[in-house]
Amino acid sequence: MTQQFRITLLPGDGIGPEITAVAIDVLKSVGAKLDLQFDFTEALIGGCAIDATGQPLPAATLETCRQSDAVMLAAIGGYKWDSLPRAQRPETGLLGLRAGLKLFANLRPATILPQLIDASSLKREVVEGVDIMVVRELTGGIYFGQPRGVFAADGDQRGVNTMAYTGTEIDRIGRVAFEAAQKRQGRLCSVDKANVLEVSQLWRDRITALSQDYTDVELTHLYVDNAAMQLLRWPKQFDTIVTGNLFGDILSDAAAMLTGSIGMLPSASLGASGPGVFEPVHGSAPDIAGQDKANPLAQVLSAAMMLRYGLNQPGAADMIETAVDTVLNQGYRTGDIMAEGLTAVGCKAMGEALLKALV
Ligand code: NAD
Repeated sequence: MTQQFRITLLPGDGIGPEITAVAIDVLKSVGAKLDLQFDFTEALIGGCAIDATGQPLPAATLETCRQSDAVMLAAIGGYKWDSLPRAQRPETGLLGLRAGLKLFANLRPATILPQLIDASSLKREVVEGVDIMVVRELTGGIYFGQPRGVFAADGDQRGVNTMAYTGTEIDRIGRVAFEAAQKRQGRLCSVDKANVLEVSQLWRDRITALSQDYTDVELTHLYVDNAAMQLLRWPKQFDTIVTGNLFGDILSDAAAMLTGSIGMLPSASLGASGPGVFEPVHGSAPDIAGQDKANPLAQVLSAAMMLRYGLNQPGAADMIETAVDTVLNQGYRTGDIMAEGLTAVGCKAMGEALLKALV
């Protein structure tokens, strides 16, 4: 019997619509082969939503997302909206979506594909075999803490943000991370700044206490500055990393660059229940938007994560990941991952190659 899934599509801005189109074609083709039916509903978020409604996350978009089995987001933002007040900025829509769907865990794999080792800025022996999962807390910490704002203070101005975590929030993300580590190599590194920040000391204490429930996982701790250095010095030492919202934002981008291109990296954001959001790590790349230059593979791999973690269809996810492997083996490369002797293609042609490679 055909299985049906309601997918909300949020193509967003910049290269978002181009890479979404490729992912839709791939999902339809996989669906036809495996008897899965995807009912797509498109909704507005980010700059395009601001233009149409004045809001970066219209209430109708959040409602559509809530009614679906999974949400596939591309990217939001661009020069045009950069100078708007914060409440009307595209990023505010993204934060609202995460909060509205209670997506507290962000899983970002950074895996070096053997075909792309030379695209990394680091030496082959440093990056070969790197396979890291960064588990980032997504709905707490300094991006949401109160008070926040810019206030008048003694004839000057004072900008304030607050980094705050409750023990419950730390335990919740900690459990996701320990469980992820159990499915991987059984090593978890918790990253904080406990030498300076009280909130980080609480983080460290709670994660350490939790480790008693996961005796099969080897837990280590690093300060965030050291973690950044270690990621560049010897990234193979890491298996699973867990950290808060701000540190995770930065470290997951650093881990992304180890792999050579931000255009290759998917992510999953999950809550305790309800639909997850699956999106590439990269932004809307306004510098190349509308030029058929975007690498659609991170979006396509996000669709694979959606099938695996959101819709429980590991066979379909495997099919997509194998097709990505095949097109890379065939030598197809978008500009961001191009190297000598390989075949340069645009976003659409990469999509066509993927469709041929799906078996
Ligand atoms: P970016 O990720 O959009 O681009 C960084 C660089 O990587 C650019 O040179 C871009 O051309 C390149 N790049 C990114 N994705 C690519 C792809 N798929 N294929 C080929 N090249 C790719 O980051 P940025 O330039 O810092 O931000 C641009 C806009 O995106 C800003 O408005 C920012 O706020 C927004 N942004 C959105 C998200 C999101 O939607 N989750 C994340 C980061 C940034």
